[in-house]
Amino acid sequence: MSAGGTYDLAVIGTGIVGATAVGLATLRHPGASVVAVCAGAVHDGSTVRSLAVDIPAGRTEEQRALARRSLELRAELAALAPALNARTRRAYWVLPAGGAAGVDGQLVGDALAPCRSEQEARLRAVFGGPVGGAGTELRRSAEATFTEPADAVEQLLRPLTSGSPADGPRRDLAEGFAVRAVEPCADGYRLIAEDGGELTARRVLAAPGAAALTGPFAATAKRFGARTKKIVAYRLRGGEPGGHRPLLVLDEPDAFLLPVGDGRDWCYSITSTDWDCPPERTRLAPNPADRALAEAILAEQLPGFRPEFTGCRTGADLYLPDFAPLITPLDGLDGVVLATGGAGSGFRLAPAMAEGALALLGLD
Ligand SMILES: Cc1cc2nc3c(=O)[nH]c(=O)nc-3n(C[C@H](O)[C@H](O)[C@H](O)COP(=O)(O)OP(=O)(O)OC[C@H]3O[C@@H](n4cnc5c(N)ncnc54)[C@H](O)[C@@H]3O)c2cc1C
Repeated sequence: MSAGGTYDLAVIGTGIVGATAVGLATLRHPGASVVAVCAGAVHDGSTVRSLAVDIPAGRTEEQRALARRSLELRAELAALAPALNARTRRAYWVLPAGGAAGVDGQLVGDALAPCRSEQEARLRAVFGGPVGGAGTELRRSAEATFTEPADAVEQLLRPLTSGSPADGPRRDLAEGFAVRAVEPCADGYRLIAEDGGELTARRVLAAPGAAALTGPFAATAKRFGARTKKIVAYRLRGGEPGGHRPLLVLDEPDAFLLPVGDGRDWCYSITSTDWDCPPERTRLAPNPADRALAEAILAEQLPGFRPEFTGCRTGADLYLPDFAPLITPLDGLDGVVLATGGAGSGFRLAPAMAEGALALLGLD
């Protein structure tokens, strides 16, 4: 690939962070030559496993600012990627009694409202009994949005895959280009792949997801205290069927149920306690402790809901100690910026993460 000259920007990683960086860079800098590379196939990272739910919120002011900015950027990106946030569901919350004020402080541009009796009755019908265990209360928020992640990634990468006009800048996508090393060179940086392939770029944005703890990104990620963690989302079948089924957030156990289609299928995300897992999703699977946790939460919070477990989506994500994303130059390489650390929220924070990394590269 080096035969064609030096790209203005190379993006490592075609998950939602890398794909969003490609989308933003090509929208804002139409004359820039851009290449994206990924270690395997385009959808080999955690993004394709994501439930891609976006409830704009954050524990800290920094996280809320990223959530707010991501909302604004989605409007800019919608022209390129209409799949982003294309679907909505009403959202209900099961909270410890008195917990609503705490959640209100975390939500961006929204506040929880009391649940009316007919809404609660509707929920009880969906889940075949009480919604929330002892000492909990029910609230509702604005509609939650969610995305089909593979569609969004493909649309964001379209500037690289739709073919460059004869007089336009070079745009390329290289699958199976697993970057082993990034070295400074006369034109900027040389990316060297495991199989010996090479390309050069003036600037590099690395969005390797949980693989940031390997290869050329590892020293920087480790210095910031990054760790990997497994995320598990079960597929369930049960309850009352229909398109009226809501997103249900179980706040205290940090879990949620997302309806799939109009039948009786759900995705059920729980917070696994499996830290320091391998980054490759093909090496990850739920363990008996994950399943026991998933069943215990349902038994306590939705005792009338006895779904069948029909499948599972499992992936790894990168977590910083403060759960904020990591956006920083690689140690010793100012023109190479690392953008990772989704911490289970990387889909919804990807626009602000990508914009922050591009700004560090002078491409804002
Ligand atoms: C089951 C599950 C449910 C989730 N639900 C939600 C949710 O509802 N909302 C939300 O916001 N987030 C959610 N997340 C988290 C979110 O999916 C992640 O934070 C996000 O997808 C991470 O995206 P990424 O681009 O950083 O990494 P990835 O999607 O993992 O992409 C990494 C990319 O980097 C490439 N790469 C890595 N190393 C190299 C290398 N050396 N050379 C070349 N390429 C390399 C890979 O090939 C890949 O293309 C969920 C995650 C899981 C697993």
